[in-house]
Amino acid sequence: MMKMNPMKRSCDYPMLPIEDAWRRIAAALASLPPVRKPLSLVSGLVLAEDIIARESMPTFAVASMDGYAVLSSDDSSKRSITGEQDAGVKLDLAVTEGTAVRIMTGAPLPIGADAVIPFENTFEEAGVVHLLASAKPGANVRPVGQDIAAGEIALPKGSVLEPAEIGLLASLGCSRVLVHPRPRVSIMVTGNELVAVDATPKPGQTRDSNTLALLAAATACGFDAVALPHPIGDNACVLEQALIETLAGSDMIVTSGGVSMGTFDLIKPLLARLGEILVGRVAMKPGKPLTFAMIHGKPVFGLPGNPVSSLVCFEQFVRPALRRMSGQRLLWRPCVQVRLAQTLRHDPERTEFQRAIVELEPRGFTAHSTGVQGSARIKSLVGANALLILPVGMGDFPAGSRVMALLINQPEAREDLSLCHAIPAKTAILSRRLLGLFPPADDVDGRRLKRGGNAFSFR
Ligand code: AMP
Ligand code: MG
Repeated sequence: MMKMNPMKRSCDYPMLPIEDAWRRIAAALASLPPVRKPLSLVSGLVLAEDIIARESMPTFAVASMDGYAVLSSDDSSKRSITGEQDAGVKLDLAVTEGTAVRIMTGAPLPIGADAVIPFENTFEEAGVVHLLASAKPGANVRPVGQDIAAGEIALPKGSVLEPAEIGLLASLGCSRVLVHPRPRVSIMVTGNELVAVDATPKPGQTRDSNTLALLAAATACGFDAVALPHPIGDNACVLEQALIETLAGSDMIVTSGGVSMGTFDLIKPLLARLGEILVGRVAMKPGKPLTFAMIHGKPVFGLPGNPVSSLVCFEQFVRPALRRMSGQRLLWRPCVQVRLAQTLRHDPERTEFQRAIVELEPRGFTAHSTGVQGSARIKSLVGANALLILPVGMGDFPAGSRVMALLINQPEAREDLSLCHAIPAKTAILSRRLLGLFPPADDVDGRRLKRGGNAFSFR
């Protein structure tokens, strides 16, 4: 007969591979319903409608340099000046053979004129301009509709509204646009042992570092985050009340602590009672007890309390989830192949996210470990710009071997998660911004980065 260990506890939740856990999370999340907002409040948001240009840009033929508006077909080198056209008003001026109109950048082209000769290529004497260069048709003129034709889609749905997009919308006269709002995320930190940052912990107590670290993680990715004023004790009734109250004003709740197997780990049973747990354990290190539930139609992430675990789980699941809710298409950080500077020990049963500093060296990207990788050792994340992905079943990685690294200080550049976890992955997409940061001819996932003008591009 098998001897039973009365202390052995089992977890009801299967340990999901990271991809499966994300699939379940993603299937439960939709982008928040769009709202119409003034252009001054949409920076960083995702457009929820196609913007059709109601008018052409530019709306009138316009001089793009200060100079003289002329007829390009007229080959005389002297023209008498018949007037001056400034920007901001449309005078009733016309250009004919032998004449020119002095014109300023941004001014409407006089009737008949089809080119502007810049001041630098002329001199003026007694009402006559002497041309030192001939004009090609259309020279220094922006014709009607050169940028955008009326009726065309000026900005498609799904565009991220960065400064250029906002400038374009402003120039088209779109003062209010339909956007997906930013999710409001509430941070709820739990644990009997926790005290405020400015308190002196008594024996057995720990300062709550997760409230501020998670708030910073949420604001770093542009979300409106609030935290409960104090950590909540491990008490089922108090936790339930706090969760229900917080849910009302939030689009997502992120809890910290209390998701493991201890006597005072009450979050999983609470979430199971109030809604449905879709992810209860994930085959990742750190972060095995990561929990995801839908409660009253809203997502709740239960992050483990260890400081590194909570931030790595935030990075790997909460951040992409928030981006998905805000309508973003690119959810995942860029991923590059790196060479290990040190041998790394690895738990072969879980995908491990080891913290590292990735540097570009002549032979390519090299990863230097940040040292001891304990999930309580927040110093292992300090200064890290990458999470090295050590996949399941691979054992230790000797120095010099190649692994994939998520560049956690670079903006999201990929739509698809799975590419990064397959080693050796041969595909990765780097954001244009990222490409600008690294020198040429570096091998990135088997593709070459090549210099192209000032930027770098894949070939
Ligand atoms: P738990 O996930 O509640 O089992 O906590 C795991 C470990 O993380 C324990 O050593 C806790 O004291 C620590 N911990 C939990 N929450 C926090 C927090 N907010 N700040 C710092 N450490 C924490
Ligand atoms: Mg605890």
